[in-house]
Amino acid sequence: MAEHAKRCAVVTGGGSGIGEGVSRRFARDGHKVAILDIDSDNAERVAAEIRSAGGVAQAYRADVSMRADMEAAIGAARAALGPVGILVNNAAIEAFTPFDEVDDAAWERIMAVNVRGPYLAVQTVLPDMQEAGWGRIVNIASLAAQIGAMNMSAYSTSKGGIVAFTRTLAVELGPKGITVNAIAPSFIDTPMARRAITGDDFTKQFEAILAGYPIARMGRPDEIAAACAYFAAEDAGYTTGQLLGVNGGAAF
Ligand code: NAP
Repeated sequence: MAEHAKRCAVVTGGGSGIGEGVSRRFARDGHKVAILDIDSDNAERVAAEIRSAGGVAQAYRADVSMRADMEAAIGAARAALGPVGILVNNAAIEAFTPFDEVDDAAWERIMAVNVRGPYLAVQTVLPDMQEAGWGRIVNIASLAAQIGAMNMSAYSTSKGGIVAFTRTLAVELGPKGITVNAIAPSFIDTPMARRAITGDDFTKQFEAILAGYPIARMGRPDEIAAACAYFAAEDAGYTTGQLLGVNGGAAF
């Protein structure tokens, strides 16, 4: 692999689910992976397993909604692994609540993690990418941003925001050699999805929803990671501002 391909890649929420899959894939692709997660035990576990397999990875505890955490974690990653070339904004939370029962605190927490988090992450890595004249940013959105999803008003709104964030940054950062793309997964087999499936309303609907997909199963984290790997590739520099559904054909 060419030396330039060994980028420092920051993956938020990299200690679980999709982020774990992306971290493992990037490490296999030769990148140096900085795993940021609010769950430091999980982040350390994934980093240690990557290192055992011969890859390069470090774990950093951060609440992505906190500027101080973000700056400390990415500063430490930069010092250990070099300037950040790739960022995957993956960490997010969800809640299933009828709209008339959503309270201010829950709404604001989802916006803080799912929207403010990516805003802080991009601002923090941007100096490295601008200096290099090269960068790859991938934002994990959701099918919930594209179709109506019952009892997910705050989450869906946050993911719709991420799609607009992606398109806006693609315009601003394209001239600087930085691409910004988004992925909209449907149901991917992760701890987050497993928690959702055990929710009262969702359990009843889940099998029927999946059965209606052309590929009638849950997706896997490695299938999202493959899309991230494409958007992060050296030769993907003409692809920006895109929203890619990795969703078993759930929406066209
Ligand atoms: P997950 O299994 O819950 O993993 C998310 C990771 O992010 C967890 O380690 C979580 O820690 C961490 N995290 C949560 N809040 C954080 C914060 N404030 N700061 C830093 N880390 C934080 O979720 P996932 O299913 O892999 O989801 C990953 C992404 O895919 C999310 O953006 C999600 O919206 C999106 N997505 C998932 C699906 C799906 O079906 N799985 C579908 C569409 C979109 P804790 O476990 O401690 O909270």
